[in-house]
Amino acid sequence: MSVQLETDVVVESTTRLDDGDHERFTHLVLEGYTPKNGEFVALENSVVEGMINATPVRALCGKVWVPGRDPKKYPICPTCKEIAESLGWSVPDA
Ligand SMILES: [Zn+2]
Repeated sequence: MSVQLETDVVVESTTRLDDGDHERFTHLVLEGYTPKNGEFVALENSVVEGMINATPVRALCGKVWVPGRDPKKYPICPTCKEIAESLGWSVPDA
């Protein structure tokens, strides 16, 4: 997967909530991107689809989980944030 820098990248933030997982972060999931003169291109991971169909999504940092319907406010995962910023993407507020 390659994303051009001149595209608008759509990044969804969602919270990973697992019993037994002591990490409490909001992770960033790449949903798709909009080329300059094109229509939105959706990638395979959709947070909304994951919530509806209980299908796992993959965060920028590599974490894979099924997104929950009730995201809480947690700090943005530092790894996700670092990756997004290194790619020149704007990071949404958690
Ligand atoms: Zn993360």
